Amino acid sequence: MKVANVDGRLALVTAPGKAVDVAEASDGRFGPDVQQAYSRWAELTEFAATIGAGHALERPVRDEQLGNPVPAPSQVFAIGLNYADHAAESPFPVPEAPPVFTKFATSLSGPYTDVTIPSGGNVDWEVELVAVIGKRAEHVGEDTAWDYVAGLTVGQDISERLLQLAGPAPQFSLGKSYPGFGPLGPVVVTPGELPDRDDVELGTLINGEQVQKGRTSAMVFSVPSLISRLSAVTPLLPGDVIFTGTPAGVGMGRTPQRFLQAGDELVSYVHGIGELRQRMVAA
Ligand code: ZN
Repeated sequence: MKVANVDGRLALVTAPGKAVDVAEASDGRFGPDVQQAYSRWAELTEFAATIGAGHALERPVRDEQLGNPVPAPSQVFAIGLNYADHAAESPFPVPEAPPVFTKFATSLSGPYTDVTIPSGGNVDWEVELVAVIGKRAEHVGEDTAWDYVAGLTVGQDISERLLQLAGPAPQFSLGKSYPGFGPLGPVVVTPGELPDRDDVELGTLINGEQVQKGRTSAMVFSVPSLISRLSAVTPLLPGDVIFTGTPAGVGMGRTPQRFLQAGDELVSYVHGIGELRQRMVAA
């Protein structure tokens, strides 16, 4: 199942560029609210199995119609330093436990946006696999953790490095939470749709030049490990999201360092899910 936010309404993607409105197709059994879908995920998955390509209500969808497929999570978790090759290019060692921060809600956006560069900011890129929670998870073991994942989507953990690393206790959450710094989408894909949910390629291109390319199998802490560790402390709720960390190739780790400039086009992809496109604009 692939779920999208089409013009602010819950939709099932039935074919490339085509979708069915869930409220319409279900005669109101499900409402149009996208975030609510995660609270009824098992039911929705059952319903979606009856909606195939060529459905009478299937409509073409243009990219501009797609919004954030997880528009209002209760909690946003983000994991730092979850790929050894990225830790090596950062000022930090490979962690023994996952460093956790948040991206504040107003930083989240849909998949195709313009992002304003804060004046004087060193704005960097971090493509990430994002896991969306499909049922309440509390003290979950690694062996069953995938059962709590509704689906996976693409995220960009856009980061302003000066603020992120400022002060005696670095401001990870704040430096990564300017408006539009957390694009998500273009769809949420159930893990079973991927050839291997534990091993997908992800990457970033800037103006067509590939700057990041990694595989999620290289994570220091896998998706199940993260769910187990987070849910040991904090119950995870339906519709919560976890940004699972970024592989090597960010701008901060380059010699010389490179940061996003007005006019740059940032493309972030996860194979089997899709891509995000951000145009950077001056403040
Ligand atoms: Zn990140």
